[in-house]
Amino acid sequence: MTQRTQRRIGVLALQGDVREHLATLSALGTEAVPVRRPAELGTIDGLVLPGGESTTIAKLARTFELLDPLRDAIRGGLPAFGTCAGMILLADRILDGVSGQETIGGLDLTVRRNAFGRQIDSFEADLSVSGVEGPVHAVFIRAPWVEEVGPGVEVLARAGEHPVAVRQGRLMATSFHPEVGPEAGRGRLHRLFLDLIAAQ
Ligand code: GLN
Repeated sequence: MTQRTQRRIGVLALQGDVREHLATLSALGTEAVPVRRPAELGTIDGLVLPGGESTTIAKLARTFELLDPLRDAIRGGLPAFGTCAGMILLADRILDGVSGQETIGGLDLTVRRNAFGRQIDSFEADLSVSGVEGPVHAVFIRAPWVEEVGPGVEVLARAGEHPVAVRQGRLMATSFHPEVGPEAGRGRLHRLFLDLIAAQ
């Protein structure tokens, strides 16, 4: 970790809704930068893994020789926040992945890709999220859910019976997209991530 007082947060910029995360973080007064190269991982205090398509992001990370540096950085304690596809990338285990689908890992949980099924594969819901005051308007887009959590994982929110927001140590993930819809302008989940970094 660096000694700067102002935190610099990276957003993994291979594919997905990178711009939206950069905008939400900037609106909170945080320096937010896109990350595409291994060397950039050493210049940030935290990393957001955006929504998009987890298979594509993982393939691009492999192609750009970022996958192992990402694993090393996260194992070495870099705080990370994954949303939707980003949650899948941070999960140690996935169900309904494509054959050979790789993750970065770090969160001791099993996620099921595209879990909410075709009929309601995109929907919105007001959720109560631990650590956030008042309901969070959550946008789910072909979202995963958490099927199993390890003992060290704290569940922050559920949709029905399934966890959709979790935290473990320096890592946090949501099945939904706090960087789009009304929550984007409020940035309360991103603030929770910044608080988690500050608490380290
Ligand atoms: N279904 C996508 C995946 O498997 C995730 C969708 C999203 O990030 N909105 O990666």
